[in-house]
Amino acid sequence: MDQFVSTDSMFWKRNRLETYKYWPFKSNAPCNPESMAAAGFFATGGKTEPDSVECFMCNKPMDGWEETDNPWEEHVRHQKDCKYILLNKPDESSWTVEELYDLTKEFCVKEVERTMKKYKSSMNIESEDLRSHIPSVVKNNFKNKKYHS
Ligand SMILES: [Zn+2]
Repeated sequence: MDQFVSTDSMFWKRNRLETYKYWPFKSNAPCNPESMAAAGFFATGGKTEPDSVECFMCNKPMDGWEETDNPWEEHVRHQKDCKYILLNKPDESSWTVEELYDLTKEFCVKEVERTMKKYKSSMNIESEDLRSHIPSVVKNNFKNKKYHS
């Protein structure tokens, strides 16, 4: 397994920050893109739901933000067991190598779980689709056999 998180991953704060294109509050509000990204959130709602976010680590989706909210405190209130919250260091540059390693490991495990979940659901859809074709395949096969005998 790849031990290093790709540079364009939501694992990194600067990438999360770039997702806040339609954030409803100004940069001088307590709940601004900078503090949202530092609290681990990236925007997911686009133009239609500008305040929909998700945590890069625990994947908790959240919305309904108020201008005066403290993103870190809200994250703690809703997901106190999030590994990023437990580390309690919003400033990446203050992480030790060991902390970075632990967080990376946790993130990679979650990433594999997310990929497996996606894969599983697409496999289910595919197998349902295949199953729905079985009767016609059997029928056609039978027809062909009859034809050739
Ligand atoms: Zn979280």
